[in-house]
Amino acid sequence: MLKAVRGTRDLLPPDTDLWNRVEAKVRDVLARYNYHEIRTPVFEDTQLFSRSVGEETDIVSKEMFTWEDRARAESEKAQSLTLRPENTAGVVRAYIEHGLYKPGTLQKLYYIGPQFRRERPQKGRYRQFYQIGAEIIGPPSAGSESPARDAEVLEMLATLLDEVGLRAWKLELNSVGCAEDRLRYDKALREALRPVVGQMCADCQRRAETNPLRVLDCKVLEDQPIIEKLPRISQYLDEACRGHFAAVRMMLDEIGVTYSINERMVRGLDYYTRTTFEFTHGGLGAQSAVLGGGRYDGLSEALDGPKAPGIGFAIGEDRLILALQSQGGQPAGRVQAFVAPLGAGMNRHALKIARELRRAGVTADMGDEEFRLKKSFELAEKAGASYIVIVGENEVAADKFAVKDLASGEQVSVPRAELPEFLRK
Ligand code: AMP
Repeated sequence: MLKAVRGTRDLLPPDTDLWNRVEAKVRDVLARYNYHEIRTPVFEDTQLFSRSVGEETDIVSKEMFTWEDRARAESEKAQSLTLRPENTAGVVRAYIEHGLYKPGTLQKLYYIGPQFRRERPQKGRYRQFYQIGAEIIGPPSAGSESPARDAEVLEMLATLLDEVGLRAWKLELNSVGCAEDRLRYDKALREALRPVVGQMCADCQRRAETNPLRVLDCKVLEDQPIIEKLPRISQYLDEACRGHFAAVRMMLDEIGVTYSINERMVRGLDYYTRTTFEFTHGGLGAQSAVLGGGRYDGLSEALDGPKAPGIGFAIGEDRLILALQSQGGQPAGRVQAFVAPLGAGMNRHALKIARELRRAGVTADMGDEEFRLKKSFELAEKAGASYIVIVGENEVAADKFAVKDLASGEQVSVPRAELPEFLRK
């Protein structure tokens, strides 16, 4: 038997009802904050990710689905392509490619879609997973660098999680400084690592040489006590970065969004600058991060674009759904009416009634004239219907239909024109 590939999965009803409800709510909240949707391709030139996410990150060095796309004609070139492991790089590429900086205003863009990483699959971690993300990007003159953008994004996320019904989420905050701070921190890390790196895992030994910041992403248990003793980024922030972070925190305090500071959170992607953050939820087990994000003031320039500071986030939609399900009590989508044709020749009448109901906004399903009444009742109950509408010869002749409330057992006769209103109750 053929099965879905390791790390991928089918999303089935009734779970997909919850996915759709969450997406509808998210679109509604994002629209209120004046975000607009962007859709970028699922695969991109491999360089886009190595130049933005960074060569030495786990994502680029171990987890990408990359292939050589052969030239198929004289006019084509062979090219290394990669299934997108994240979407910020694609959005910033599109921002540059289409000159979205030209109006000189902030662009507020969001996306919903699949991402691909070859990670070890476990609960909440898949090789194809879904992210809901958004970016605010623009020239500094439009206010893109202001700490108010950071606070606005974090406030929106708090509202969004509240509105989708997630309870007891936690926000962790850090600042990873600007490029100059990172150079100084890099130097301090190299010095601190020199005497201890021999005791660390092979990955850390390599990272200590190539990109010591990524040592902080290490998940190997034995390395943790060593990492705990390494210098902290907060000691290396310059005055501007310190002030920026203080302003973000002050605004969050002012509007009442609670957070804690986690100085080890450097978020496994190289493009982050200044504010980084994660929202976690207790119902997720080991993979507790529901979403992550941060500022990326140099990303556009790293991709040959103009100066365009930005800040964004990506919600792990699979994890958001798991977290909501761990809270229990998600009502299933409800069928309001089950239309039951009774006897030969009644299918066409039932179809007509169902059509009228559906056009009037009633959620309706229907049986078949081949079914006995008992079977129609069973099907209506399985569908979770509130009412069954019986369409038999007498009903059609009288243009009045027997409607039974499946919860109370009460049955009444309802004129055709009054059916939608009656069933919507
Ligand atoms: P990142 O793009 O690494 O900053 O991740 C942002 C969010 O995406 C994380 O907080 C997770 O919720 C989610 N995420 C990342 N990788 C995976 C994965 N392999 N499977 C499921 N969700 C993921």
